[in-house]
Amino acid sequence: MVPELYLDANATSPVLTAAIAAAHAALEIDFGNPSSSHAAGLRARLILDDARARARRVLGAATGRVMFTSGATEGIQTAVLSALCAVRERRAAGEPCGDLLLYGATEHKAVPESLAHWNRILGTELTLQALPVDADGRHRLDLLRELAPRTAFLCTMAANNESGVVSDLDGIAAVLEQTGSPALWMVDCVQALGKLPLALDRTRIDYAPFSGHKLYAPKGVGMLYVRAGAPFTPLMCGGGQEGDQRSGTENMAGIAALGAVLRALEEGRTFRTHAQLLAVRERLAAALRAAFPAIEFNTPFEHALPTTLNFAVPGLSGKALLDLFDAAGIRVSAGSACSAAKAAPSYVLEAMALPDWRCANAVRLSVGPLLDDAFVDAACARIARCGEALHRKPLAASSSGDGRAGVYHCGLDGGWLVFDPKGGDCVAIDVPETQAGAAAALLQRHGYRLRAAFGAGAAALCAQVDADAGAWPADGETVRLADGTPATAIRLGRDLLVRRPGGGYLLGALEDGVLRQARLLFAHTPADTQDAGNAIVCLPMGIEAPSVERKPAELARYHLKHFFAEHPDALLIDVREACEHAAGAPTLQGRAAYSLPLSRLAEYAAWLRDEARPLLFFCRSGNRSLKAVQCLQGLGRERVWHLAGGLALLRN
Ligand code: PLP
Repeated sequence: MVPELYLDANATSPVLTAAIAAAHAALEIDFGNPSSSHAAGLRARLILDDARARARRVLGAATGRVMFTSGATEGIQTAVLSALCAVRERRAAGEPCGDLLLYGATEHKAVPESLAHWNRILGTELTLQALPVDADGRHRLDLLRELAPRTAFLCTMAANNESGVVSDLDGIAAVLEQTGSPALWMVDCVQALGKLPLALDRTRIDYAPFSGHKLYAPKGVGMLYVRAGAPFTPLMCGGGQEGDQRSGTENMAGIAALGAVLRALEEGRTFRTHAQLLAVRERLAAALRAAFPAIEFNTPFEHALPTTLNFAVPGLSGKALLDLFDAAGIRVSAGSACSAAKAAPSYVLEAMALPDWRCANAVRLSVGPLLDDAFVDAACARIARCGEALHRKPLAASSSGDGRAGVYHCGLDGGWLVFDPKGGDCVAIDVPETQAGAAAALLQRHGYRLRAAFGAGAAALCAQVDADAGAWPADGETVRLADGTPATAIRLGRDLLVRRPGGGYLLGALEDGVLRQARLLFAHTPADTQDAGNAIVCLPMGIEAPSVERKPAELARYHLKHFFAEHPDALLIDVREACEHAAGAPTLQGRAAYSLPLSRLAEYAAWLRDEARPLLFFCRSGNRSLKAVQCLQGLGRERVWHLAGGLALLRN
């Protein structure tokens, strides 16, 4: 397995060794309840007080409230509840307080969701409004100037978790000041801790939530700063812990760990300086540019945290890039919310009005301030490997190099590209509109000419490649099928793609001018699959033959050793894309794997069906390998398994 390089620090970070030690001691030795008055309690109280004192120094908050929470989401709730209760009281007292709940358009979802929730629960009936950002991702101060006099509560973040854009907090404060705004102000400081200077006492900020797990403390601990004199309503009542501000017995392991991180921040020897992080970003950006020459960075570096790089590469979906990085052992995240099949475009990048393709295909690479040169060297080398792996063409000739047409399956939505690697011609069958962009990029990147496109998405694909290729080409030749019926055909290398009079398309080579036996049948509907003969059936929704109800043969990771002992001759097949295989060809139990991408499986399905050896498919997460198993089981193949959970669950 490729050792893991974690470059997703904005999602969460590993835990600092000193923080683990502090948590461990709080669990094992000083496990007392800080509210107890005996010695064990007093020792726990000391840990709590020490962590808070450090927090005050690190945040520059000698005055005001600093309380420990379960994380930023809780801090945000408390701030929103406090602000809205105050607005309700002010309004009841006839004081001017504004009618808007204004939040930055790129805020973390915790902010607008909490605003809407508490506005509804408390019946405050304020109007929620997003404050737009400019093309650089920074708040539109001109619009804030207009809205500030009406704003009851303003929520802006110090730095954005997706784009890394750093807000102009001084500019915002100046607008609030100049317009005499009645607004209370929350600044989500989650991504700022340890990366930007903080002197909360000297600002107009009323509420500032923090989260431990974004900076080397564990999940489930955070902090909330509340300016002295700012309204405050506790979210949780009970035993009166945290000075009656946040009841519930304290998460002492988490607080002790956060205390250790705060100590490291205060002492200043553990984390890299801003200048050093700028140099790290230069190196990572240079490596990315070299690996992906057409890369577009989505945020201007001069306004962004040096620890966050958000980018997109033309012709490569965010999912494809993520898979490629993952294969190379680099953990990054899609800049957009990804579900299994579809990537929703990033609302953060959309708010910056970036082109659609960049919003849909963004990838975020983020590091924490705790990294050394060896780590950066390794990350740059892996990025370079990803770039090289991309030279492995998905539309390459099959390994037998026998001049036959290749067949590529266009992802979960279905559709097929049938191509002649030598002649450079390609025919698209049932490529849906949703895949037209990706298919067009593939054809263009590898220099294929679209000769014809059939099915619902044909027009969209033709428009993308600027080809007038929709209809069956006039220069098609006439061939005979096995039963003597004439049919028209398009030549693709040694193979012919034949339009079957009964529906669907056959692919195969002629014998004496007759297509006696097709290799593949591309069907539009299950009805087209009648009389397929020996041909492998390719239905639009995937590589599926007539369905056979069979339990997927799952192999759990802890049974691998046993499996190989029982099936020493098993054929191990990596069904990820060829570039993923090249980026990090894995071995399982010391065994090398063949690369046979799921997207090319149809081409090899007959061979695999007839192969005597047991088959074990694997991929990144188990989704693609499951499809491969189902395909072969559908062809009646026995003794075929897939690795449940995929490579992701195998530890190095
Ligand atoms: N705000 C920002 C900017 C974040 O990045 C996150 C975490 O993703 C949160 C709030 C929520 O933090 P937590 O996980 O501590 O509740």
